[in-house]
Amino acid sequence: WTSGTVVDAENSLTELAALAETAGSQVLEGLIQRRSQPDAATFIGRGKVDELKAAVESTGADTVICDGELSPSQLRNLEQKIKVKVVDRTALILDIFAQHAKSKEGKAQVELAQLQYLVPRLRGWGEALSRQTGGSGRGGGAGGGVGLRGPGETKLETDRRRIRTRIAKLKREITAMGVIRDTKRAGRRRNTVPSVAIAGYTNAGKSSLLNRLTGAGVLVEDALFATLDTATRRTEARDGRVYTLSDTVGFVRHLPHQLVEAFRSTLEEVAYADLVVHVVDGAHPDPEEQVRAVREVLAEVGADRLPELLVVNKADAAPQEMLLRLKREWPDAVFVSARTGEGIEELREIIESRLPVPAVEVLARVP
Ligand code: GDP
Repeated sequence: WTSGTVVDAENSLTELAALAETAGSQVLEGLIQRRSQPDAATFIGRGKVDELKAAVESTGADTVICDGELSPSQLRNLEQKIKVKVVDRTALILDIFAQHAKSKEGKAQVELAQLQYLVPRLRGWGEALSRQTGGSGRGGGAGGGVGLRGPGETKLETDRRRIRTRIAKLKREITAMGVIRDTKRAGRRRNTVPSVAIAGYTNAGKSSLLNRLTGAGVLVEDALFATLDTATRRTEARDGRVYTLSDTVGFVRHLPHQLVEAFRSTLEEVAYADLVVHVVDGAHPDPEEQVRAVREVLAEVGADRLPELLVVNKADAAPQEMLLRLKREWPDAVFVSARTGEGIEELREIIESRLPVPAVEVLARVP
């Protein structure tokens, strides 16, 4: 479903398909509906539900993934009508985050986001159940009376309480981990080692570029979110100065709000860099939109005031007209291919030239 243009919807759907493949699904078919607003009951309109049902039956699909966030009741209604599992964009992204989180902090953040996503959905289920059993609904408590509450609702209360306790514990743990990270960062700053953060849209080629620039064996996967946790490598400039290069979490269109919150501390790392290397996929159908999306999130974590070096990657795969257009649009950008190595030396030189200059006090101290 989209309220925007069909081209927007197609780009968004292409990304959704890439996300689904990352999560291990095989994508069979895509359907787009244009409406000014999602249908209150089933997200997509009635006619589209029939069309979707037919598509599910003809392809033998076992799951429908919707590009958006469905309310608990929309999910339930749609599942009842088309008889297969329905997943929304948020659940899909959470699933991928869960698959790829490696560090302790990354895992805690993903679990927190998953539980926060789950809580309102538990309530939706509870309301349906309490109607069924004739209970008083909300809260369960004393008002329901003995014998009016089903055993399921009691279990729901227990589940809810357990989840809340777990959420509180995770939040405490994440805060504590943030302190440790700040201490490490302070250490780096005291050592005055310049730091470069590689930021960019998901799948733009950030870890490939980090590998090219440092020769580090950072995991590269043909998948979105291959680098969920910040990977930092030390490297040496030609003049012998040491600096760090960090790979950062990949951005995504329409990043669900719960995830922005949950990954804030990971993204905040970027704000402490001396230079942001902003990588964009030149072979993507809409690189400008990618750049806009990334800059928006960078601004949210306060990294928009840092010097930015725009790098258009995948120059080997991008159409010639696209490269010309992007060169006109971003005359200061560096065009590279992490795959072929084209432009990498030039990029390294530009990064080094833009590192903060070493302390000048020593040079200025004339006897
Ligand atoms: P990240 O998510 O931004 O870290 O992206 P990755 O480095 O994991 O790369 C995502 C995908 O793009 C992988 O399949 C890479 O092989 C591919 N890729 C990266 N750089 C290039 C490039 O310069 N050209 C082409 N054709 N593919 C690339």
